[in-house]
Formats: sequence, structure tokens, C-alpha cells
Amino acid sequence: MPELPEMEAWRRQLDDPVSAFPIEQAGPAHIATLKTFDPPLSALEGRRLAGAERRAKRLLFPTEDGELVLLVHLMSAGRVRYLQAGEKGPKTPAFRLRFQGGGELVLTEGGPKKRAGVWLVSPEAAAAELEHLGPEALGLGADRLGEILAEQPRRLHSLLRDQRVIAGIGRAWANEILHAAKLSPFAPAQGLSPVQVSELAAAIDSELERGLELRERGAKDAKVYRVHNKLHEPCFVCGSPIERVDFDEHTIFYCPTCQTGGRMLKDRRLSKLLR
Ligand SMILES: [Zn+2]
Repeated sequence: MPELPEMEAWRRQLDDPVSAFPIEQAGPAHIATLKTFDPPLSALEGRRLAGAERRAKRLLFPTEDGELVLLVHLMSAGRVRYLQAGEKGPKTPAFRLRFQGGGELVLTEGGPKKRAGVWLVSPEAAAAELEHLGPEALGLGADRLGEILAEQPRRLHSLLRDQRVIAGIGRAWANEILHAAKLSPFAPAQGLSPVQVSELAAAIDSELERGLELRERGAKDAKVYRVHNKLHEPCFVCGSPIERVDFDEHTIFYCPTCQTGGRMLKDRRLSKLLR
């Protein structure tokens, strides 16, 4: 699933082109992708978008007149692209906006499951839709992070991924961040020393910024991730093999030498605990 660095790289790419011309035709949209029907998509036609914004893992396209917001959540497999006039695009995208001048914003989704969503709503409804989200991960800072951790009797990896607590980090960047901070994914959030909280806050910023910079240059997963999905590859810091552990329904990657004092973590899958 695209996380903050991936979404922010797309937002920066889309910001100028989507606001260059008014919308000529909104849609068609796949029936499973478009989540709202009032106002109809055609309400966008003739209006100009103010640009692209981002909140957590969602993209927002407000209209310049301030009356409507197009909200896009790509989920795991959705991808969004701007096609220049005349550029070849997908035949049946899940959603399309055509601009005067011929450019198009297209949303595609790989695989048979349609989980990505598009909502056309008022700014108030968009704000209500996003209300449950925690503060943005990038730039959170040690003080605010310390307050958040103190309130959460949780393990670090699952806490970092919880969008209601901190917005923008998923399982891939949680792996990268905890490795950079030299913290165990299973460490209790309330047990961190002030120094560890500062190191975690610094790792959140440095890793998300590293990811954003690489994604803006078009780097693929294999180059962007150094721990995530690198099972048994040597840790880039110490050379030990990267290990994996299952927790709930998630697979976590970590370096035992850098993060857990050499200890191997045991699976804590829900299914195992229930047995
Ligand atoms: Zn290591």
C-alpha cells in the first residue's frame, strides 16, 4: 500500500497539471470506485481544481471556487496518473477526469478487487471524513510523539501503523523507521526513554524524507526499502540477515542485531493465540 512518501510524491507531481485547465469531463467511474452520487460527478465540469493536497494516505483535489472536494483513497492497488494531451492511457480506468486542453487524470487499480475509492463531497463533508486521523507523521517532533506514546499501551510497530494515532505510516515504513531508530517492533510504546523517543522522532522524519526523495526520482520498492521485504538479505548496517515475524495479520521485517539485542522475535499471530 502506498504510504506517506509515495502519496506525497504523487501529490507534488499532480499539483500543477491538475490545476492548469478547467475540467471538461468528469468520469466515467467504476461503480465500485465512486462512493458518492450527490452531487453527481458532472458537477465538476467547467470548474477548475485548486491543486492537489494530501492528508495521511489520501489525496484531495479541492475546486478553486471552494465548493467541492474530490477525495481519493488508493488503498493497496490503486494508482493515479496524469496523462498529457495525446498520451496513451489505460482503456478502462476506474476513474477519469478530462481537462480542457486534453490532459487526463486517471485512476487504475490492479487485480480483480476494486477497493480504491473516489468521493465527491463538500469541504465540510471532506473534513468530517478525515476527522478520525491522527497528526501527520512527517514533522511530528519528539515532544508530540512523546505525548502520543505515553497514552498508548501498545507495541511500537502496530502503534506506528494506526492512522488514528499517527497518520501516513504503514507496515513498510514502520519497518524502515524502527530499524533506523534501532528499536524492537514489539517494544512497548510506554517503555521508551526520552532519548529513544527523540531517536524515534528523528527516524520518522529522516526515513519518510528519504523515501519521498527517492520516490520523487521514480525509485522502485527494491531500491527504496532497506529492511522491508528483505528477508535473509544482509542488514545494510551490520550485515546480519534480516528476519521476519508475524504479528496479527502483518509480517514485520527487522534486524535482530540492530533492533532486538540479537533475540529472534516469536510469531504473535492472532490465529495462533486463539488456538
Ligand atoms: Zn543490523
